Amino acid sequence: MKENICTIPVNEVFEQNDGCPICRMRNLIEAKYVDYITGPAMMEPDIRIETNRLGFCERHFGMMLTSGRARLPIALTLDSHLIDVREKLLAKKPDKKTLEAMQALENSCFICNYIEPHLARSLETVCLSYKNEPEFRKLYEAQPYICITHYRMIVQNAKKPLGKEYDYFVEVTRKLVKKYADALQNDVIAFRDAYDYQNAGKPMSQETRTAIERTIEFLTTRPAGGNLKPLSGT
Ligand SMILES: [Zn+2]
Ligand SMILES: [Zn+2]
Repeated sequence: MKENICTIPVNEVFEQNDGCPICRMRNLIEAKYVDYITGPAMMEPDIRIETNRLGFCERHFGMMLTSGRARLPIALTLDSHLIDVREKLLAKKPDKKTLEAMQALENSCFICNYIEPHLARSLETVCLSYKNEPEFRKLYEAQPYICITHYRMIVQNAKKPLGKEYDYFVEVTRKLVKKYADALQNDVIAFRDAYDYQNAGKPMSQETRTAIERTIEFLTTRPAGGNLKPLSGT
């Protein structure tokens, strides 16, 4: 059930032309899971077992708190998560196993846990649409860029749905990513040079002014400074 809480309207996402389309898909999936876990699902016993075990990362705790949903269910979830933490990690002198469990908890999150596999399945739809729909192919190739993380995910997930067209598709995608990375490099250099005394007083272009933020977003999938409000993704 949790795996099927949303179907991504891939065509709609690609009809837009602002930033990385896979980031927009990820934002949609993320918003759905935040909505799901701050709703009635939070009180379901089998979900509670998972949230006790996995916890949440700082970003997703933040999104849960800013979701506008009631805070009492969050407190109840924290109550039973803390019981788990105290029993498993703090009841006795720490040994190797305890330390491993602590580290695993630091790196786990109920929401993060679902995003990547869900996104991988949605990427299969992207690949199939690219293979079978000429109109979608145009939309895909007209995207301004794909961020480095989602380029990696595309390369990893495209082989099966694309079949013989895999190499062509990956090369189209790589060129899209590379073209944007080249432009970013020039914009970062222009930003650096704007601080040269010879350029004092000269106005910066929009591209130069936003070079740092856009490069961080390209490298991390997130706008610099983070955005803890659930994004609509579209
Ligand atoms: Zn992305
Ligand atoms: Zn998370």
